[in-house]
Amino acid sequence: MIFNLAKIDDLNISEKTIFKAIYQYKSISRNDLVKYSNQTPSRVYRLLNSLVDQDLVIETKEKHNSSGRPFISYTINPDSFYILGAYITWDFFSIGLCTFDGKILDATEPIRFQQETPQDVVTYFKREIERFLEVHEIPTEKVLGLGISVPGPINQDKGIMWNEYHKINEHWNIIPIRDLLEIEIGIPITIDNLVNAALFGEVQRGSISLNSNTSAAYILFDRGVGSAFFTPGLLTKGQEFSGQLGHTIVKLDGNRCVCGKNGCLETYISINSLISRMKNRLVNLKGEDKMAVSTQLQQIEMMVEDNVNSLDFQEIVQSVVIALGNFIHLFQPETVIYGGRIVDFCPSLIMESIDQIKQKMDISKNIQFRKSSFDNNLLISGSAITVLEENFHVSIPFPYK
Ligand SMILES: [Zn+2]
Repeated sequence: MIFNLAKIDDLNISEKTIFKAIYQYKSISRNDLVKYSNQTPSRVYRLLNSLVDQDLVIETKEKHNSSGRPFISYTINPDSFYILGAYITWDFFSIGLCTFDGKILDATEPIRFQQETPQDVVTYFKREIERFLEVHEIPTEKVLGLGISVPGPINQDKGIMWNEYHKINEHWNIIPIRDLLEIEIGIPITIDNLVNAALFGEVQRGSISLNSNTSAAYILFDRGVGSAFFTPGLLTKGQEFSGQLGHTIVKLDGNRCVCGKNGCLETYISINSLISRMKNRLVNLKGEDKMAVSTQLQQIEMMVEDNVNSLDFQEIVQSVVIALGNFIHLFQPETVIYGGRIVDFCPSLIMESIDQIKQKMDISKNIQFRKSSFDNNLLISGSAITVLEENFHVSIPFPYK
């Protein structure tokens, strides 16, 4: 598959600036563009004409502004570019085709990992991309790139993932996933962490609105405990950050963690640790059978309901209160979004932890806690949006105003 260099790379810096501003505002008048871009009216006019001529931007005559005069507004042509979003979790993989602003046009159902190798997954992605483009009659030069999110830790610069703690299967140790995809598909690849993609996905859904005064965190409770933090102009990331919350120590000399330290948060509330803590009380299920994970978590939730005051329950809650409470103290996010299978199947663990954080930690009453559905659509659109950041550093459409 040969992808031509997407048009956006051919734009000059001034055109990119204007294009980016229109993207961020969604719809903006020429006067406002002049105001926010610090360029002369005639230059903005020329740049706009050029973008319209290239079919990247659409001009629409609006009836009137506040002074009653008609004016022209500019929006991004939704047919200007398309983005592909894909993800690989510890248990599933999937891919979708999105519009420029991350709306999903088409997507595959999540495929549950059996014994697939990295090459199997890459071949599957390639086949699905070809199908998407054929069905939707999209020429390859309109595809800006493929954003893929994977579990940490990752080396973002080199595009390498390694499943140090939670292995997908024996074929997934250290994987140069970006090179594999680029060689097979021939398209620019952006790689990011699953939790960052989930945060982008929530912004795309409109469930959080990020502007110059807001900040938000995403906390994932699943095989591991991951975190992403957004503050205006900066998504705090890096291969090391996303996994750090799960490996903060909540009990000195606690149980041995997969990372080699003792007493990490993940020894209390990752899927594997919950299951192994409760194993002797679970109905006998094959431990390695991934189909059984949700059943096991549901059983754990039933046990929790029956034994709300059990030592295990209180210990687990306490570990979350310490780690997440301190995280909130340090970063002061205005919104804390949480998702993952532990949230879905053991809600009482998370709800009790949040209640105790509110009661015991002196945190602002304005902090909003919000549940997220960590699902196929969230990860596909969130992963797609990571491409925008790579291409013109505008992952999140938030107004400057
Ligand atoms: Zn650890």
